[in-house]
Amino acid sequence: MSFQSLGLSEALLKAVSEKGYTTPSPIQQKAIPPILEGKDVLASAQTGTGKTAGFTLPLLHILSENPKGKFRPIRALILTPTRELAAQVYSNVREYGAFLNLRSAVIFGGVNQKPQAASIRKGVDVLVATPGRLLDLVNQNIISLKRVEIFVLDEADRMLDMGFLRDIERVMKLIPDKRQNLMFSATFSKDIRKLAQGILNHPVQVEA
Ligand code: AMP
Repeated sequence: MSFQSLGLSEALLKAVSEKGYTTPSPIQQKAIPPILEGKDVLASAQTGTGKTAGFTLPLLHILSENPKGKFRPIRALILTPTRELAAQVYSNVREYGAFLNLRSAVIFGGVNQKPQAASIRKGVDVLVATPGRLLDLVNQNIISLKRVEIFVLDEADRMLDMGFLRDIERVMKLIPDKRQNLMFSATFSKDIRKLAQGILNHPVQVEA
C-alpha cells in the first residue's frame, strides 16, 4: 500500500515524502481511510507505531478541503497528557502541514501563558493542548472551542493515569456535540472503554 492510495492530498504527500516515508505504517493504513470518511475512530496503538501521522495527516486533509477563510476558529483540538507529547505532536502538525494554508498552535502548563495566548489570538485552525492550560485559557475567554469539528484524544490511557478524567469531561462540555472523534490508547482497561463510550459515536476500531 502507498500513501497515494490512501487518498491524501498532493500537499500532504509532498510533506510525507520530504520526511522520507515510503510506506504507511499498519496503524496509518488502518486508521487513515475511516478518518477521511468522517468516522469516529478508536485506535489501539503504542508510541513508535506512527500513530501521530495516523491522525494528523487525515485531520489536516479534512480541514484543508474545506477552508474557513480569514477568521480562523479552532477546528481541530488535539489533547495530550504531557507537555513533551504536546510539543512533539505540534511539531508533527507543522511538518505535515508545511504545504497547507492552515495555522496551528500548542499550549501547555508550566510556562508563561502570554506567548501562547498571543499565538491563539492570531487565529488557529489546529490546537494541540494539555488539559489544564487549555481550561485555564478557556476560562479567561482567550480560547473558544465552540467551532471544533475534530477532537483527538491522544494517549488516553496516560491521560487517565495522570488524573485528567474530570478535565477531559469539562473539555467535552465545551465542544459541539456534532463532531468527529478520534481516540488513541496503548491499553484498553475498563475505564478506557467507558471513556470511549462517552466520547465516541459508533467508532471504527483499529489496531496497530
Ligand atoms: P509516533 O508513533 O507517531 O510517535 O511515530 C514514531 C516515529 O515514526 C516518528 O519518528 C515518525 O516520524 C516515524 N514515522 C511515522 N510514520 C512513518 C512512516 N510511514 N514511515 C516511516 N517512519 C514513520
